[in-house]
Amino acid sequence: MRGAVLYAPGEIHVEDRPDPTIEHPTDVIIRLAATCVCGSDLWPYRGIAAVDGPAPMGHEYVGVVEEIGDDVRTVRPGQFVVGSFFASDNTCEICRAGYQSRCVRAESVGAIGTQAQYARIPLADGTLVATPEPPPDDLVPGLLAASDVLGTGWFGAVAAEVGPGRTVAVVGDGAVGLLAVLAARQLGAERVVAMSRHEPRQKLAREFGATDIVTERGDEGVARIKELTRGLGAHSVIEAVGTQESMMQAVRSTRPGGHVGYVGVSHGVALPGQELFFAEVHLHGGPAPVRRFLPELIELVCTRTIDPGKVFDLELPLDEAAEGYRAMDERRAVKTLLRP
Ligand SMILES: [Zn+2]
Repeated sequence: MRGAVLYAPGEIHVEDRPDPTIEHPTDVIIRLAATCVCGSDLWPYRGIAAVDGPAPMGHEYVGVVEEIGDDVRTVRPGQFVVGSFFASDNTCEICRAGYQSRCVRAESVGAIGTQAQYARIPLADGTLVATPEPPPDDLVPGLLAASDVLGTGWFGAVAAEVGPGRTVAVVGDGAVGLLAVLAARQLGAERVVAMSRHEPRQKLAREFGATDIVTERGDEGVARIKELTRGLGAHSVIEAVGTQESMMQAVRSTRPGGHVGYVGVSHGVALPGQELFFAEVHLHGGPAPVRRFLPELIELVCTRTIDPGKVFDLELPLDEAAEGYRAMDERRAVKTLLRP
């Protein structure tokens, strides 16, 4: 099969990789209908995170079940399935509490690499959710978004305790931030402030339900959020970047007693203790337990209640993955969909 491999920063090759096989009786093999490049793939691509090259890439996936292991009960060949970036048993105590991304048996799908024609998905019964019927082609991007960026934005909103009557601010205008805007509106937020300096992304944020746009960032951005909230700060702030600046912008934009949901993968963030002490905000976040939300998100996409697939503004054949990475790295694209 063909698959994307990162050799060194900036060096993505699509090459022949071994076809995956069932390794454990709880595995399935899927044929990818679509896959994509994640903002978090850019960390090793840019050399900010270590590259253990050559490394297979990709952790977002939707596809059709080809083959199942002997112990698999809930999915069968021919079904269209959606999973997330951590395989989880969905039965342990941590999973049952809703934190499948930290399942005691969690396995990283990123290490398997789904920017490929086929992938082995471990713990299939716990990990995969089948759609009611094979989706029409135009719903595939939305279902693929549910696999990570929508599920992650959704978790950010839930972690930030978004709800009716709340004012929400979203730090970050990548795919996760934009879909956090969508999630916040779906969860009933009254006002959703998208923080973005990029006109095409502001437009998408509006389409997803943003009521206000703040173009300033850092302390100026915080000051704008305060102005919009009678000096108090937002009830709920979703952090979808993962840098020191974005995290401090999120904490400082939140009112005392408010909630920060942080879902940007943290890189070099150190929170000053005394400021945190007096901020008096709730902090909750981490790798999103996307599996918790998948049944609901699949239904919202399949009934066309939401259209998160709009975050994909570049679609390429898998063999052109290198250009997909470049376009996102240079911010020419919000998110690249790859057709295997
Ligand atoms: Zn578990």
